[in-house]
Amino acid sequence: MNGRYSFSQAPMRVYWEITRACGLACRHCRAEAATHRAREELDTDEGFRLLEQLAAGTPKPHVVLTGGDPLERPDLFALIEKGRSLGLGVSVSPSATPRLTREAIRALKEAGVDAISLSIDGATEAIHDGIRGVEGTFTRTLIAGEQARELGLPFQVNTLVAEETLAEIPGIELLARNIGAARWSLFFLVTVGRGVVLQPISPAACTDLLRWLAERATVPGMVVTTTEAPHFRRVVAESRLAAPGRGHAAGIRDGNGIMFVSHDGEVFPSGFLPVAAGNVRQRDALEIYREAPLFLSLRDVDSFNGRCGVCEMRSACGGSRARAYLASGDLLGDDPLCTHQPASSPPG
Ligand code: SF4
Repeated sequence: MNGRYSFSQAPMRVYWEITRACGLACRHCRAEAATHRAREELDTDEGFRLLEQLAAGTPKPHVVLTGGDPLERPDLFALIEKGRSLGLGVSVSPSATPRLTREAIRALKEAGVDAISLSIDGATEAIHDGIRGVEGTFTRTLIAGEQARELGLPFQVNTLVAEETLAEIPGIELLARNIGAARWSLFFLVTVGRGVVLQPISPAACTDLLRWLAERATVPGMVVTTTEAPHFRRVVAESRLAAPGRGHAAGIRDGNGIMFVSHDGEVFPSGFLPVAAGNVRQRDALEIYREAPLFLSLRDVDSFNGRCGVCEMRSACGGSRARAYLASGDLLGDDPLCTHQPASSPPG
């Protein structure tokens, strides 16, 4: 349970990769984006059906239309309109390409999207463009942020946390605040897709960073949250600082409050855990979320192995299931990025 949400019944956030097409080809892209749309993409009618299924959730989940670049889909605005007419909250994660014009941002605002997200992985143009491997994206991202702010469309800044970006984090925080981001989400690298070209930070560096973030989260004006580092909640609790802001839902993690639908309809516990539980072309999306054995096991924290299985924080945190799986092959194993030693020892 999380407030009015019961994560066993419906996800709080659904990430739908509406296309893998993208004009960029960032070095660490989860989606391994391509220049052209794939033939297997869910079409408009299939997309409408998916949105209808999601709208049956109680409460209705928030849908994040992601990619690739959502602006590559000619029916993007029809999908947004459908989602909004069904009472779904909708956000969009566009890429910083020439398609992301002031007119596009205005159209997203007028279509009723709640927010957009923009990626910043370096505090300077040289670092950001170098990490993403695409020139010009830093400047374009800052301009898009400025335009979104002028048009009154809230935006989130997404930042990748890896060895290559660690020194940039304080500078990115200042930048995100200066350009008026409503929310800053730090994604702790899980090496899937093109992410394998980058290096994860060490567990000790992660703990230091989370402690610093817990302090920064108390500064008003911008919500600070993490992706694939749910042990941020433990660090905040230990530091006895204020809660890390609205939207950082206790217990939400891969498969528990989160669901990811790929461009071809495969359903995953998140975009970083490459184990599918079914396909929305064959089965109702919420039914997969509620009943697939994969999702059921990921929500059963008492079945977790290693430290996460005996940890006093396992319900509120539970570790990154994606990182556990990619580190050891055990979906229910330890999150190796966490340094916590629970009061009880794991059996065996
Ligand atoms: S041991 Fe696992 S459940 Fe406990 S705080 Fe660390 S990641 Fe979270």
